[in-house]
Amino acid sequence: MNILVSSCLLGTKCRYDGSCALCNELLKLKDGYNFISVCPEVLSGLPTPREPCEIFKNRVVTKSGKDFTSNFIDGANQTLEIAKSFDCKYAILKERSPSCGNSKIYNGKFSGKLVYGTGVTASLLAENGIIVFSENEIDKFVSFVK
Ligand code: SF4
Repeated sequence: MNILVSSCLLGTKCRYDGSCALCNELLKLKDGYNFISVCPEVLSGLPTPREPCEIFKNRVVTKSGKDFTSNFIDGANQTLEIAKSFDCKYAILKERSPSCGNSKIYNGKFSGKLVYGTGVTASLLAENGIIVFSENEIDKFVSFVK
């Protein structure tokens, strides 16, 4: 079964600060599933490292005020096409990201405060019928697909 996964969770150093967010619990699943690794922000052409972005009033902006909404939408669309081409019915994405966050994202004021919300890619995938889990919901994912 093909599962779409945020690249940073698999150890790729593609986060805004050039780090990864390796998730060992996810790696333990690897034998049963074929992970399709994607980073929507890199797909959109943004460099690594890059200025961190947050979602504020439906726009994706940096602390210095640059608007990267179109990049994030482009990355989400490319990710959806990859998911479709590999027939991914499920995704496991990095929580809190303005692209990949599935239930919590930062509030858009760069204050470190989280709010309920979804990133641009997570939203588009869900709108297209792909069931999205975060790296904090791996047990839930395993129970769901059994
Ligand atoms: S866009 Fe998603 S995959 Fe890329 S670094 Fe951010 S959370 Fe990870």
